[in-house]
Formats: sequence, structure tokens, C-alpha cells
Amino acid sequence: MKNKKEMRSWLDEFKLNHPLVIAGPCSAETENQVLKIAHDLKDTDVSVYRAGIWKPRTRPGMFEGVGAIGLKWLEKVKVETGLLTATEVANANHVKLALEHNVDILWIGARSTVSPFIVQEIADALEGTEKIVLVKNPVNPDLSLWLGGIERLYSANIKKLGVIHRGFSTYEKTKYRNNPEWQLPIELQNRFPDLPLICDPSHIAGRRDILQDISQTALDLNFDGLMVETHIDPDKAWSDAAQQITPKALVKMMSDLKTRKVTTEEVDYKNAINTLRTQIDFIDHGLLDTLGKRMKIAIKIGNLKKKKNVAVLQTKRWNEILGKMILDGEEKGLSEEFILRMFKAIHQESINHQEKVVNS
Ligand code: PEP
Ligand code: MN
Repeated sequence: MKNKKEMRSWLDEFKLNHPLVIAGPCSAETENQVLKIAHDLKDTDVSVYRAGIWKPRTRPGMFEGVGAIGLKWLEKVKVETGLLTATEVANANHVKLALEHNVDILWIGARSTVSPFIVQEIADALEGTEKIVLVKNPVNPDLSLWLGGIERLYSANIKKLGVIHRGFSTYEKTKYRNNPEWQLPIELQNRFPDLPLICDPSHIAGRRDILQDISQTALDLNFDGLMVETHIDPDKAWSDAAQQITPKALVKMMSDLKTRKVTTEEVDYKNAINTLRTQIDFIDHGLLDTLGKRMKIAIKIGNLKKKKNVAVLQTKRWNEILGKMILDGEEKGLSEEFILRMFKAIHQESINHQEKVVNS
């Protein structure tokens, strides 16, 4: 992709000295609900009002959005509050209707980004648009699919692009509704430093109490903005009730977040080093996590060896592994000496654990 600077220019036009904030309900429910929330968000740091008009629901029979009538309510939001508006589009007809009703920002939802057919249909319908288009990450942690979505839009001559990180679904239950897997947006940011990156802590969290922490991490990683689901009566929301917060809670959260304003070279340096350090911290946590998992498997092997009365140390297998790791490591720019030292330490720790099992 060329002209990456162009991608960023739409964000610069907001002339903000804080991250871009997009807020509003998961779903537009009634005209009154839409307008009330919008009025509560007016005169805050919020620049863009979001509301889902067509809702992709995992199971049929749930509330699937109010449909086109909600676009009229969004037009009223614009007139009455001056906020820009944003909604999700999932097919060419949604695009047509959203454009007819002057929606300012269109986003592609996580369930659409997974389908190149859908993304292409939306890209074709938007061909050459001046509107801002944001691409949510696909539900599965696949960076190529996410990049593919951006490339399809870029090829359709859509220049005002950005991405939204909303986490990834996992089979394993975690404290998140959608696992953040921060290494993916970090990788995306490294490849396209000029592509505005927005975090949607609401869909990562799935619950209110960890929104602030997720948002802070995003800002520490130099994200450009936040999209936060906001509702006047969150518990009674027709969709995603557990993760929505009131406009008042949003204002409080924003004021508690530590944001970094880029004004001087010194601040530039600090921002850069902070981002890199946060990235390293994530990788280190990942390393420990992986080592912990490896040790658990080693213990299982220890149990098997105990059952079959096999010796803990299997020199032949170990030498084979080391040989492979040295070659693999070299490809990644890691010295043989380092690989040997690191794997000897890991291997020793495994043996210690296995011996405990075998002798228990
Ligand atoms: C939403 O923003 O309300 C939504 C449906 O999000 P996602 O596509 O990230 O699930
Ligand atoms: Mn939602």
C-alpha cells in the first residue's frame, strides 16, 4: 500500500490532543434512547457517535437491530449534537442506506472481516468513497485476513482507512470475552505505522470492570483511539448489556486514563520507548506462559515414564531436539551459544520436574 500518510490524514483532521473517542450504544434501540445517549456524550471528549443498526448475532432469535429507521435517528444525532456518526455495514445494501443517510464512518464488523466475499462486496459498494472506513479484526486471530480486508478497501480507492482491535474468540474460557492477543495489533502497527489503530475495549472485555485496564494498555501501546459502548441504562440494553457503561462512567474513565500528548521531541522519545517496553512486557509474559505450558507437558511425560518405568533422561531425543533448535534459532538471528544455554536451562527444569514425578 502506497500513500500511507493519506490514511492518517483523516485522523489529523480531528485536531485532537487526546485519543479519538467513539462512543454510543451497541445497538440503536429507540429514537429516544439514541438521542438521549448522544446528548449525554455531547460536550465530552467524544467525537464520534456509534450505534449498531444491523446487528450480527451469533444465534438467531436475538435482537437483530432496528434496521434502516435507525439511520434517521443517527441523522438527528448529527443535527442536534454535532457529533459525527458511525455504524456497521455488512453488505452492499447497508452501504447504500448508510451513505444515503450521511453516516460519516462505516465499519466492517469482526464477523464480516473473516469473509473475503463480504469485504469485497462492501469495498465495491464503497468504491472511491471519501468516507472513513474502519476494519475490525476478524473473529479468529489471523493477521493476513485482517490485512486482506484493508487491502481490498485500499484497492477500491478508499483512502481514509483505519482498524479496530476488538479481540479474538477462543475456545478456552478466559477473563475476556475476546482475547486481546496484543501481539497481532502490534504486528499490524509495525507493518503499517500510519494506519490509525483504534481499540474496542468493550468487545474485548465483555464486562464493565476491566474496560479501564484494557483501554490503558491500548493507550500504552500507542493506539490512536477507543471505541466504547455506552448506554443510558446499560443493564437494560437490548444487546451486550454486561459490557456497556453510562456516559458519565465513560467521562470518568477517560479522565482516569493516562494519555500521552505528543508535543516535544522528548515526549516523542518517551512515547516510543514506552510503546516498545510495553511490547517487550507482553512478549515476556507470553514467554513465561509458554514455558509454564511446556513444563506441564513435561510433567505428563514424567507420569508416562513412571508408568512404563523408563529413564527420565533420554539423551538421543534430547540431542536431536537441540540440533533442530540450533538451526531454527540461527534463522531467527539467535546464536548457537544462546540456544544451547537457554535450552539446557529449560531441559534441566523439565528433568527436575519429571524426577519429582517419577520419585513420588
Ligand atoms: C459491535 O460493535 O457492536 C459489534 C457487533 O462488534 P464486533 O463486530 O466486534 O463483534
Ligand atoms: Mn456490541
